[in-house]
Amino acid sequence: MSNKIQVKDKTFAVSIPQEKILSEVKRVAAEINRDYAGQEPVFLAVLNGSFVFAADLLREITIPCEISFVRLASYQGVSTTGEIREIMGLSVDVTNRPVIIVEDIVDTGLTMAHMLDTLKKHNPSKVDICTLLLKPGKLQVDLDIRYCCMQIPNDFIVGYGLDYDGYGRNTKDIYTLCD
Ligand code: 5GP
Repeated sequence: MSNKIQVKDKTFAVSIPQEKILSEVKRVAAEINRDYAGQEPVFLAVLNGSFVFAADLLREITIPCEISFVRLASYQGVSTTGEIREIMGLSVDVTNRPVIIVEDIVDTGLTMAHMLDTLKKHNPSKVDICTLLLKPGKLQVDLDIRYCCMQIPNDFIVGYGLDYDGYGRNTKDIYTLCD
C-alpha cells in the first residue's frame, strides 16, 4: 500500500504512523492522570483540529473530568492592536477550576498565547496546555507547554484531525507535505 495520499491539489507522505501517535497520546494521558489526581480538570478542546486527538486523549483519562469544545473566532479589532481572538462556546463555568487546553498543533504559538490571555479573564484556578504537536522551530512567543505528545520539523502536516483547506482530517496517520 502506498504511503502517500492526495489532498486536493497536494501530495502528502506518512510521517507519523497511527501506532506512534497513540502511544504518545497514552504517555501524555498517564502524566495528566498522575498530575491531576483529585483535581477534576476541565479539558477545553480547540475546534476544529483537535477533535480526533481530544477523543483519543479523553478515553485514556481515568480521573473524574469534564470536556468542553471551543472555537477561536478571529476578527479585526478597531484599535491598532490588530487581530483579536475570542473564545466561542465556553459552556462550562471554569471559575476556580483547573483547565487543560487541548490543541492540535502549536506553530508560532500566537493562537495559544491569545487563548491563555482570554481564558484568564474567566478566572480558572490554573491553566495547562496539552498539544498533540509542537513545531519548536516556529515558536515566536514564550509559552509554557506542559504536555506535548510530539515535536515535529517546520513542515506542513495533515491528518488525524488536521486539515488542508478543510480536507484530509479523516486519516489515522499524520502526513507531511511533499516538495
Ligand atoms: P499558531 O498560532 O501556533 O501559529 O497556529 C496554530 C494553528 O495553526 C493550529 O491550531 C492549526 O490550526 C494551524 N497550523 C499550524 N501548523 C499547521 C500544520 O502544519 N498543518 C495544519 N493543518 N495546520 C497547522
